[in-house]
Amino acid sequence: MDCLFCKIVAGDIPANIIYQDDLAMAFMDINPQAPFHALIIPRKHIATLNDVSSEDRETVGHLHWVAAKLAEEYGFAADGYRTVFNCNSHGGQTVYHIHLHLLGGKPLGWPPYQDTLKVPV
Ligand code: 5GP
Ligand code: ZN
Repeated sequence: MDCLFCKIVAGDIPANIIYQDDLAMAFMDINPQAPFHALIIPRKHIATLNDVSSEDRETVGHLHWVAAKLAEEYGFAADGYRTVFNCNSHGGQTVYHIHLHLLGGKPLGWPPYQDTLKVPV
């Protein structure tokens, strides 16, 4: 299967891996959008959040558990952080193997797309 993140799981493409277990793997994003930016992925290939099946529920929840564990380990759990799944084109997904973005290390703007807010609410 021609999937970039499956190739990282298989060890065929290098990555700065910071965590792995039987269900998941985490590595630093190649184009970081915050002082700390990691991607947490299931070892299993799941293309998008729309493709998560009922038997994947534990795995997808596990990705968030890994995120919180890494935030603690890297020292920004108390200050706070953001986790994001992008889905398909409107969500900005570019790699079609689900991945949880973990961003931290600075105050993160919210909402992320202020230019699209037409009316103050
Ligand atoms: P998406 O846009 O699909 O939510 O996020 C894909 C992420 O994967 C992007 O943040 C991008 O920088 C990252 N990325 C793309 N190719 C590679 C790669 O080869 N190695 C690593 N570590 N990250 C990658
Ligand atoms: Zn894959």
